[in-house]
Amino acid sequence: MKLKGQKILVTGAGGFIGGHLVKDLLSSGAAQVRAVDVKPLDDWYQLLPGAENLCLDLQEKQHCYTAAEGVNAIFQLAADMGGMGFIENNRALCMLSVLINTNMLMAARDLGVQRFFYSSSACVYNAARQLTPDVIPLKEEDAYPAMPEDGYGWEKLFSERMCRHFEEDFGLQCRVARFHNVYGPHGTWDGGREKAPAAICRKVLHAKLTGSHQIEIWGDGRQTRSFMYIDDCLRGIKSIFESDIREPINLGSSELVTIDQLVSIVEDIAQIKLKRHYNLSAPRGVNGRNSDNAKILHYLGWEPSTRLRDGLARTYAWIESQMLQSQSEAQFQARAAGECAA
Ligand code: NAD
Repeated sequence: MKLKGQKILVTGAGGFIGGHLVKDLLSSGAAQVRAVDVKPLDDWYQLLPGAENLCLDLQEKQHCYTAAEGVNAIFQLAADMGGMGFIENNRALCMLSVLINTNMLMAARDLGVQRFFYSSSACVYNAARQLTPDVIPLKEEDAYPAMPEDGYGWEKLFSERMCRHFEEDFGLQCRVARFHNVYGPHGTWDGGREKAPAAICRKVLHAKLTGSHQIEIWGDGRQTRSFMYIDDCLRGIKSIFESDIREPINLGSSELVTIDQLVSIVEDIAQIKLKRHYNLSAPRGVNGRNSDNAKILHYLGWEPSTRLRDGLARTYAWIESQMLQSQSEAQFQARAAGECAA
């Protein structure tokens, strides 16, 4: 199924990946894009005027039917989620995203939607395969026997299975991508839901702007991860969507780095060296995780093309602009309050 000319729903469109996806679909010739998120429109990272933008809570069944009315294809990205700090402390909230996935699948089936893309996660993988930093890259079959990340990972794995059975039993064509750490501009960078790349950019910027020259790192810095830049992710999403691949497939970078190396890259971008403090009691996730990309390379010829340093430089620049903007807004408000008091 080609995307060009389709009527498409993107859920979670006020969020990081959803916002970028709406923008990309509009520029690549979709006939119509409906963008839905539970957040008020003013809080969306990107609000694209070419889309039909709706604020709906997709945990409510009726809202899923409103959202899916008249579309041929759905990109289901809505989820209550965040970085390790959020998912380790909000397992029940993460699991409640099952309401979104269940209701969206039923709406898609009942309204005759042809294709359903589901954004799963590397958190579905068996924890026993991620015990050491020098991890063997995770192949798709490593999700079973199941022992995923508690809460968030179980919900993703369950929803993957629902997609599979909706295809087998009801003929709804489902495509499932397991995203491995996506990063880039226009995403969460503070407030507790941010992920490692954005959190580290923010902490380095904070140390630079305040002159503190210190940084707190969660864990011992030796945990390993791979990080995929948003542009590569979008190319992969569209390719998987249009493909005939019915099984969940990895979508991630295989460029493995330690958290310490990630900090060093951001320090280099900021042209600063910081004193590191390791917080061993903070949430740190698994010890090592990397994506095995053999399948996606073989079937779709996809591999990431953005070097980590280049993607981080763009992310850093955007977060810097956001921090400077909030700083000048705070100064403006303080000045205005002072003038009122005078
Ligand atoms: P995000 O938090 O920026 O976006 C998710 C959006 O879903 C948010 O804007 C949120 O308001 C919305 N949402 C939550 N509950 C909703 C509801 N009841 N109704 C409507 N909208 C609701 O996250 P993201 O990074 O853009 O992630 C998008 C998808 O990709 C998610 O499903 C996530 O689990 C998955 N994923 C992301 C990553 C990553 O590294 N960013 C990794 C693995 C999987």
